[in-house]
Amino acid sequence: MIKDFGFIIPQNCQFGMGALKKLPDFLKAAGSTKVMLISDRMLEEIGVVDKVRKILADGGLEYAEYLDVVGNPTTDIVKECGEKYVAEKCNGLLAVGGGSPMDVAKAVGVVAKFGGDIGDYEGVGKVPGKIDTLICVPTTAGTGSEVTVAAVITDTKRNYKLSVLGPEISPDYAVMDPELIMTAPASVAAACGVDALIHAMESYINTDANPFSKAMAEAAMSLIGANIRAFVGNRGNADAACAMMLGSTFAGIAFANNRLGDIHAMSHPVSAFFNVPHGVANAVLMPKIFEFNAICADERYAKIYEYVTGKKAGEDFVPQMTCDALAQLNADLGIPAHFADVAQVKANGGAARFEELIPQMAIDAMKSGNVTVNPRKTSVKDVEALYAQVK
Ligand SMILES: [Zn+2]
Repeated sequence: MIKDFGFIIPQNCQFGMGALKKLPDFLKAAGSTKVMLISDRMLEEIGVVDKVRKILADGGLEYAEYLDVVGNPTTDIVKECGEKYVAEKCNGLLAVGGGSPMDVAKAVGVVAKFGGDIGDYEGVGKVPGKIDTLICVPTTAGTGSEVTVAAVITDTKRNYKLSVLGPEISPDYAVMDPELIMTAPASVAAACGVDALIHAMESYINTDANPFSKAMAEAAMSLIGANIRAFVGNRGNADAACAMMLGSTFAGIAFANNRLGDIHAMSHPVSAFFNVPHGVANAVLMPKIFEFNAICADERYAKIYEYVTGKKAGEDFVPQMTCDALAQLNADLGIPAHFADVAQVKANGGAARFEELIPQMAIDAMKSGNVTVNPRKTSVKDVEALYAQVK
């Protein structure tokens, strides 16, 4: 029997090569007279920010800029950008980038309108009302943040990634222009691509999966599984770029409706303590957590195997084959099997420091709502054992 469920896609979504050109139309329709462009220095350097500036100027739109967003963005960045937003008298947010600028824009929308620090709004349903118009333009495939209700911000005082969740911070417009992901470095394409695949897979197998989230997750896995290697191998491959962009958004729509699982719960503390990029932290954890969850495996493990390998799961299929296929995908994409081999961990004390922090990271991981929907019930001891396997 199908359990009761509901779903919502609140965004006006626009997909297509060159879709960026529609920005002025969207801003005018939303009544935004001065928008704050939120992005990062890398995107400024490679010309993406200039492209956006030109489109806004040609559309006769006024804008201010905040380009100092970094990976794993902090509460201080939100504060600084929020103050600028108020001082510049903006009434709309335009995030251009990966998950970091998009999450910062959501958080800035909150503090600019309702005051205080973003930490005051941690958790579900704490944001008192809708933020100003928010347009998200992803430049990676990706976090799916353009269609989710979450902002994840690092609290540097606690070495903790806090999440603010609620429909009030959901973007109003999502503009998916595959042209923008075609200049990404291979390592970024790999880490972000696996992250998107993990969004689809965790949403697909968790205990809150419903027919709608599963349909979106399957569409995402089909697109990403068939194209991730080709895209990382050559970002100029337009067909692969379109598939990855769309797959990433579909995966975002899936998990915006039913959350994720242990991989995301456990990756956030690693990023908070070691500044490991989100996608890399997830990817390293992925094969071992799939092994941990295999005891609950059903036909969905076989489906994942088929999407990731392009092969049929025959009579001899066993769930371990899915875990092995995911480990092989990491290897093909140049993602290490252990955190000791990840640059940011190496630079911050290596395996010894990682081991020392396992108890604290396990406590932080258990605070995530994602643990509660993981297919296998997970204890703090389980989390510690899993971290030890990938140290
Ligand atoms: Zn993710």
